[in-house]
Amino acid sequence: MQTTDALIIGGGPAGSSCAWRLRQQGVETLLLDAQAFPRLKLCAGWVTPEVLADLQLDPAHYPHRFNSFDQFVVHLFGLSFKLKSVQHSIRRVEFDAWLLQRCGVPVIQHNVREIVREGSYYIVDGAYRARYLIGAGGTRCPVYRSLFREKNPRARELQTVTLEHEFAYDYADPRCHLWFFNHKLPGYAWYVPKANGYLNIGIGGMAQALKARGDDIWHQWALFIADLDKKSLVRGFHEQPKGYSYYLRDQVDTVRVDNAFIVGDAIGLATRDMAEGIGPAIRSGLMAADAISKGFEYSVRSIGRFSIEQGWIHRLLEYFMVTRPTRSLKHAAKEPLNEG
Ligand SMILES: Cc1cc2nc3c(=O)[nH]c(=O)nc-3n(C[C@H](O)[C@H](O)[C@H](O)COP(=O)(O)OP(=O)(O)OC[C@H]3O[C@@H](n4cnc5c(N)ncnc54)[C@H](O)[C@@H]3O)c2cc1C
Repeated sequence: MQTTDALIIGGGPAGSSCAWRLRQQGVETLLLDAQAFPRLKLCAGWVTPEVLADLQLDPAHYPHRFNSFDQFVVHLFGLSFKLKSVQHSIRRVEFDAWLLQRCGVPVIQHNVREIVREGSYYIVDGAYRARYLIGAGGTRCPVYRSLFREKNPRARELQTVTLEHEFAYDYADPRCHLWFFNHKLPGYAWYVPKANGYLNIGIGGMAQALKARGDDIWHQWALFIADLDKKSLVRGFHEQPKGYSYYLRDQVDTVRVDNAFIVGDAIGLATRDMAEGIGPAIRSGLMAADAISKGFEYSVRSIGRFSIEQGWIHRLLEYFMVTRPTRSLKHAAKEPLNEG
């Protein structure tokens, strides 16, 4: 059996940033991920300046595609306006692999199935043993399922479903576009150009609210693709997108049980206005590491619930994404429909 001080399950931004910080602080750490990196991760790949600051990432030294914007073009209820905000775009397939390599801890490809507690150790699949266990496995995190689900049941009405495709494309419009609540979507669609001729297009909405209306994300995707064609943003698109589901931020009561922690999407930390999850994942990973190595309290209360600083905009978006749909679903049970 392989023994280590800290065992991290999941090598996305939450797990790799936790590993990075633990290693800097001299904690022996091992990371397991079910997939070999570089791996596909569905994501628009839009990151904030806070993400760069948390990761101490200087774009000049980042070896992959990196694009910066100073505004979003927002389309809302038939109006289009520019929202000034410095943002960046990366490709997750590159970014996550780079972060994982940079963190410098040993990484083993292993799909975790069983977690048991034996004295002061966590035993994973009878093969790995650690005093500290960090659940960074995203929506399907096995640490969440084994140790946290009963304490922190996920709220169905905060589950978002997405479809997305990233591809080489000679785009004519280099701006980042967001369409909110188009065709009554309880969410938004995006067009995010990457550096050197890549483009990410996608759509995400609240799963329960869509279902309650007899709508679904595939129907919304077809409408979105037709709109992109009409606007000449993407012509003749016929690829099949891929889907993923994750959770927006709820009140999260328990993020640590004894020496087990959960971080990132395993908690459900994505913001309630923009469903931004990379920044909260990284921040929580770093905080869990500080709790282990420095004895700090581990709490996600200080991690922002919103992406957009302008109060009225995030309130408006939250109202149409979360508050209004939730009202009509207030009797929904607190268990996810279908994770992943
Ligand atoms: C379509 C889409 C678009 C998005 N766009 C954005 C965006 O533009 N900006 C933004 O900030 N956020 C965005 N998000 C959210 C963001 O992608 C997530 O919040 C973020 O990836 C969470 O990071 P994480 O490290 O917690 O989990 P993940 O990145 O999901 O990593 C989890 C890792 O755990 C591994 N794992 C899972 N189960 C096991 C197991 N049993 N054993 C071992 N390993 C396991 C997985 O292989 C994976 O590598 C988007 C999400 C989607 C779906």
